[in-house]
Amino acid sequence: MSDAESTTEPWETSERLGRVEPSATLAIGNAAAALEADGVDVVDLSVGEPDFPTPANVVEAGKDALDAGHTGYTSSNGVPELKRAIAEKLRGDGIDASPEEVIVTPGGKQALYETVQTLVDPGDEVVLLDPAWVSYEAMVKLAGGELTRVDTAPSFQLEPALDDLREAVTDDTDLVFVNTPSNPTGAVYTDAALEGVRDIAVEHDVAVVADEIYGQITYGDVEQTSLASLAGLAERTVTINGFSKAYSMTGWRLGYLHADEAFVGEAGKLHSHSVSCATNFVQRAGIEALRETDDTVQEMVDAFETRRDLVVDTLADAGVDVSVPDGAFYAMLPVDDDDQAWAEEAIEEAHVATVPGNAFGAPGYARISYAASEDRLREAFDRLFDHGLL
Ligand code: PMP
Repeated sequence: MSDAESTTEPWETSERLGRVEPSATLAIGNAAAALEADGVDVVDLSVGEPDFPTPANVVEAGKDALDAGHTGYTSSNGVPELKRAIAEKLRGDGIDASPEEVIVTPGGKQALYETVQTLVDPGDEVVLLDPAWVSYEAMVKLAGGELTRVDTAPSFQLEPALDDLREAVTDDTDLVFVNTPSNPTGAVYTDAALEGVRDIAVEHDVAVVADEIYGQITYGDVEQTSLASLAGLAERTVTINGFSKAYSMTGWRLGYLHADEAFVGEAGKLHSHSVSCATNFVQRAGIEALRETDDTVQEMVDAFETRRDLVVDTLADAGVDVSVPDGAFYAMLPVDDDDQAWAEEAIEEAHVATVPGNAFGAPGYARISYAASEDRLREAFDRLFDHGLL
């Protein structure tokens, strides 16, 4: 070390970042990576990512767009044709959407981040339904918001939790997050539950973030209703969606938000000063995804449903009581009270990677993603049973 170098901390990092923790899933991910580097066969059920390739016609559309020279900036909120296709999709979901009310983002996560930054000031109250996807909490804390959490365990349904939600939401509440189908539970909320949210939101004049990124992934007769399709919610809801899950496009980074033009005008400022726009040729591939992949998406959803059944049947046969997920590709396993220790043992001893429920505000559970082949799922359960973990 030269004399000029100091031994004090080099950065005065922001107080903001001091409020958030690195992702709790990192420890498991690191453990899995370390084991794999040693040649251990790990069954990784921790990642929230479809195991299918992006549909071939979407890949072709991306390549064609590159060949056609679509490599420059686009208008900040997105290419007009994609915004039209998104508005059409949303209208199909019963939302009265126009292309001007859409911002195309690099992933649904950025759409959520922009939404929180647009709506939440320091001290603002935000309500989460637990278990909740990990990044909501971090985004709200970064904005200085205060969290109130409503627990939906053990049913993971929203209807039985409406009384608790009614108590949690007051005139001081600014925002409620609703994620249906839910990550991490796979629950799809009933229309009655969503109408309950609507009544509470209207009574207290609260905005709603509807994260519908798993909306196309539902099973059997169950369908997901878009919150913004309900009278009373349309004018106070920001709808979030993205291409990662339904079209297996996680690495393309493409998502969007929809709200009225007043909201989009404000959020658009943040969008233009941060990301400028989503990637040009990726946006073109997104048009193909929205318009020309119905059959491929259905095939993926059918495969997820078969795996969901495998998970539920395997656990039922072993006498493990799980709430049956109707959507997304996650299930919550009831595990030890110390879910962190359970998940560590599962990875270290059984070589099965899961995410401890405390990361989602659901201690006593572990989340598995069943976006894995049936063989790998069977292998994972065999190992967990063999080690006495289930
Ligand atoms: N919302 C939920 C509930 C998610 O699970 C995810 C991805 N894990 C996202 C949003 C963001 O996905 P992406 O940024 O890949 O569109």
